[in-house]
Amino acid sequence: MVYALKIENLVKKYDTGTVAVDGISMSIPKGTFFGFLGPNGAGKSTMIHCTTGIATPTEGKITVFGFDVVKDYREARKRIGLSPQEYNVDIFATPNRILDWVGGFYGMRKKDRRERITYLLDRFNLTKHADKQFKALSGGLKRRLMLARAMVHDPDLLILDEPTAGIDVELRHELWDFLRELHKEGKTIILTSHYLEEVELLCERIAIINNGKIVSDKPKEEYLKDGGKLESMYLSLTKSDTDN
Ligand code: ADP
Repeated sequence: MVYALKIENLVKKYDTGTVAVDGISMSIPKGTFFGFLGPNGAGKSTMIHCTTGIATPTEGKITVFGFDVVKDYREARKRIGLSPQEYNVDIFATPNRILDWVGGFYGMRKKDRRERITYLLDRFNLTKHADKQFKALSGGLKRRLMLARAMVHDPDLLILDEPTAGIDVELRHELWDFLRELHKEGKTIILTSHYLEEVELLCERIAIINNGKIVSDKPKEEYLKDGGKLESMYLSLTKSDTDN
């Protein structure tokens, strides 16, 4: 089995002493649309940061398509496209410039960058906004640009951290269509979202993290069998002791 992402006994303890991830193991087969849920502070971002090299694991091993994210950082990283929750861009830069910079970062030649950027701008309906400053774009355009940026180097694994946060229903549907298309093309997608209905609609497999531990990881159908609801399962699995 080819795993897009394999995490074995991951522990991340920050210098502050916080154990944000406390012995996580999970395997995501290539081509899976995977939902990753958990309340604020559960450890989702830390897991993503350890996978993408923003944070260093304290213990354990992470491989992306077989490449170790620490020992083989470059090989692993170029297979990942990350759409972060926070807009980490120069707000005065244009989509053209933002996408070109990422292509350069991954060592793409100018001609290849140009071709790829033209394709992505068209695909995400951004062409007519390509030379506007980021700060002047609407919320939906910014989110679309983050998705396009994650795809400049054509990675096989997309990690999308709250990709539809703060956008209206219509644009959310449009983004869902993009994500479904990418999944159909064979991309592996890891989606974190606070919108449980979005995860329920799109994802094939869903893991729930709470207090740095995986409390559930199974196919979507298993959450929904016998008339079950993802939301009630989620709430019961993430209920903290103080709620009792
Ligand atoms: P989530 O993405 O699920 O909201 P995080 O991974 O951001 O969770 O946070 C998990 C825990 O780790 C929280 O207690 C948070 O305060 C802590 N944490 C996150 N980043 C850092 C950091 N850079 N330094 C210290 N503690 C951190």
